[in-house]
Amino acid sequence: MSGYDYDLFVIGAGSGGVRAARMAAAKGVRVAVAEDLHLGGTCVNVGCVPKKLYVYASEYMQEIEEGRGFGVNADSVSFDWATLRDNKKHEIARLNGIYGKLLDNSGCTRINGRATVTGPNSVSVNGETITAERILVAVGGWPFVPDIPGKEHAITSNEVFDLDSFPQRVMVVGGGYIAIEFAGIFAGLQAQTELVYRGDLFLRGFDQEVREFTATEVARKGIKLSFNTDVASIEKRSDGALDVTLSNGEVRVVDQILYATGRVPKTANLGLESAGVAMNSKGAIEVNDHFQSSVPSIYALGDVIDRVQLTPVALAEAMSLVDHLYGSGEGELPNYELIPTAVFCQPNIGTLGLTEEQARERFDSVDIYVSDFRAMRHTISGSEERTLMKLIVESATDKIVGIHMVGADAGEILQGLAVAVIAGATKRDFDRTIGIHPTAAEEFVTMRQKTR
Ligand code: FAD
Ligand code: NDP
Repeated sequence: MSGYDYDLFVIGAGSGGVRAARMAAAKGVRVAVAEDLHLGGTCVNVGCVPKKLYVYASEYMQEIEEGRGFGVNADSVSFDWATLRDNKKHEIARLNGIYGKLLDNSGCTRINGRATVTGPNSVSVNGETITAERILVAVGGWPFVPDIPGKEHAITSNEVFDLDSFPQRVMVVGGGYIAIEFAGIFAGLQAQTELVYRGDLFLRGFDQEVREFTATEVARKGIKLSFNTDVASIEKRSDGALDVTLSNGEVRVVDQILYATGRVPKTANLGLESAGVAMNSKGAIEVNDHFQSSVPSIYALGDVIDRVQLTPVALAEAMSLVDHLYGSGEGELPNYELIPTAVFCQPNIGTLGLTEEQARERFDSVDIYVSDFRAMRHTISGSEERTLMKLIVESATDKIVGIHMVGADAGEILQGLAVAVIAGATKRDFDRTIGIHPTAAEEFVTMRQKTR
């Protein structure tokens, strides 16, 4: 036992901080956790969880409409924002309580307040100095909004969940996960929605064919896509409406403008510079393979190290760190090369491994299998929605090196297939797997004809 107040002081009770704190405490480590906002962090309060609830709401609207083709008639379909928002609030409050109990039951000391680092082994919270053998900085990130005239009229993912009223006209700025998911949510809930992105096609870094297919599908859902466009300024009218002037000189009138232009590490005024913790130009803490910063007693993980901003990655990093410090000592690193991920737009994108472009750069020869079809439910639903499935195979080894889907439940389907791909499945393994009929997913094991 160290001579400090605690063995481990965790700053931030989000995805990574809570997991590290609980796992360490379960091993008999004396742990304190400080949180200055809400237990569970971004994911639980203003991220994955409320976002997915809102995606469900928007999918219900669409499905009720599609039911007509099956003889299901709901004559007056309407949407009540306050019901969704307030039911969400209750659910999040329930989850906050669960997080509190998890920490308490594992023996962690919980501290409400903003912590700052005052030295290699000390922090300050609520005016009190607390010492610890090790400090874990798991403070996450914060939305970034570029400096444009009128930026104070824009909202971010921090505010979007709890709006007083549902906006009928929405502009979403950005071309990443949050922009595309929220454009889908708003459009699905019948708001007039425009997505404005500075580049020529959104989802930079994703497979090109997936990006193009997704653009066609989301445009089909009624989202206006304005690429190669940026916002020049925002002005508020006396009635609350916003005049948004675009870089091409056009002006749009909207009720809300949501900026989803990335997130930056929340390291400002945290005392890290004076403690000597090295950070990159974006303010992300630089760490080695064991999440140790340039100050040996200070560690960091999750969004604040800006490797991959995903909850399961923060969890995996936390478990790796705790194993390294307090367990077997090995602390197996998360496999950053093969991270399955989903974008919950409509339809979903699910993806794992290399894009076709990356595979062509890495290998001498690759085989590409693509299937683009109308899912069975849409044969009579009246929807024109199509599904894309894509397998990328290294020719020399027959190994699947990339797998992508745009279609209903792509996230659910990819999670299972990810196990096979990570275990080293070959195309032949997919071919000898018998399909489950009739499903959309069976298409992944019946693609016999090489596309390219
Ligand atoms: P966080 O969860 O952000 O936790 C950091 C905590 O530290 C916060 O609670 C914060 O209040 C606290 N804190 C900060 N500074 C201090 C301080 N000085 N003192 C005390 N406490 C402090 N990921 C997915 O995998 N799937 C998704 O579907 C998904 N959807 C998302 C949707 C949105 C809108 C957003 C914004 C993010 C989404 N993410 C999703 C990303 C995911 O939420 C993050 O990757 C994850 O929460 C990172 O965990 P973390 O522990 O690093 O940080
Ligand atoms: P992303 O990094 O995914 O996307 C940011 C977008 O904003 C990019 O399209 C980027 O363009 C654009 N952008 C950046 N700066 C500017 C600027 N100055 N002016 C105009 N556009 C700009 O960030 P998000 O905010 O969407 O989400 C943050 C992270 O949270 C995601 O990367 C993801 O890791 C995580 N997340 C995960 C989800 C999931 O798992 N389903 C859902 C939501 C979030 P460009 O590409 O040209 O640089």
